[in-house]
Amino acid sequence: MALPGTDNKGPCYWCLKAVKWIPVLFIVTIVAWSYYAYVVQLCLITVESTVGQIFYLIFFHFFFFMFCWSYAQTIFTDIGRVPNNFRISDVDYEAYVHHGDSLEVQNRILENSAKNLPVTNVTIGGSVRFCEKCKVVKPDRTHHCSVCGECVLKMDHHCPWINNCVCFTNYKFFVLFLGYALIYCVYICLTSLPYFIAFWKGDLQGMGRFHILFLFFVAIMFGVSLMSLFGYHCYLVLENRTTLEAFRPPSFRGVGADKYGFHLGRFKNFKEVFGDDPKQWFLPVSTSLGDGIQYPIHSRHLQSSYHTMDNTQNSRRDLESETSKLNPGHTEISIL
Ligand SMILES: [Zn+2]
Ligand SMILES: [Zn+2]
Repeated sequence: MALPGTDNKGPCYWCLKAVKWIPVLFIVTIVAWSYYAYVVQLCLITVESTVGQIFYLIFFHFFFFMFCWSYAQTIFTDIGRVPNNFRISDVDYEAYVHHGDSLEVQNRILENSAKNLPVTNVTIGGSVRFCEKCKVVKPDRTHHCSVCGECVLKMDHHCPWINNCVCFTNYKFFVLFLGYALIYCVYICLTSLPYFIAFWKGDLQGMGRFHILFLFFVAIMFGVSLMSLFGYHCYLVLENRTTLEAFRPPSFRGVGADKYGFHLGRFKNFKEVFGDDPKQWFLPVSTSLGDGIQYPIHSRHLQSSYHTMDNTQNSRRDLESETSKLNPGHTEISIL
């Protein structure tokens, strides 16, 4: 259900806002319990060897910390805003509404508003992408999120488990969160497996053994779901595609829909999300390249874009040097 605008903050707004934190609380509760079950019940009570305890606990705390850090960053990172120059003037908006019966006139108004903006994406019909709720020309890869109630830069999807949009500002954190959560589950499964087997053999005593049993099952359950989700997002990172773009490929002015429109070569795609510095690739700190507004695009779309900014030339130079690295399906590239 869409939230009312932020200017309408009645009791319902705050109730809904609170309800949306329930999935996050659920995850936090499971993680807190898993910490107790692993550290207290498994390591401190069940594992007998001190060396074994130390070994288990050191790695566990490392993965636990990285997981919590990535999760917190994914939840609390601001989703960013569409810059003001993408907002159409009140006069233009009035004219746009006034000509609601003529798409052609509306398109002309939007074309005029967007003529100096660095926009290459268009609607399927070829017109300027415009959000009537936010009254903005949508930057490339931006979509309106009905839950957040605003236009979100490089929107991937709205995730209830983080109560936030997965988008340009936190996509790296989200992928790391999935990766560390998967490692956390796999580590718990592997290290609790001998004790899980001992449980079935009847070698474990006390109520604590049920914690270990459930810990193993819960880790398997989350691990399997995370594996597919993490695998899918690794694929999307390497293809330079968002989840929304995987369902509906972006359309480019004068070219039409092209799911490879932002594909720059796999390594370059990876660096667009994770940055240039390998030391920071696996840390949940902001290193994604770009500003979330403009993206280097496949060279065949450059001729039809509105680009007027300086870094268009940089994008073009990047693409020229990247031509030879693109995947085999793109041998027909023509550089302007
Ligand atoms: Zn919007
Ligand atoms: Zn959202």
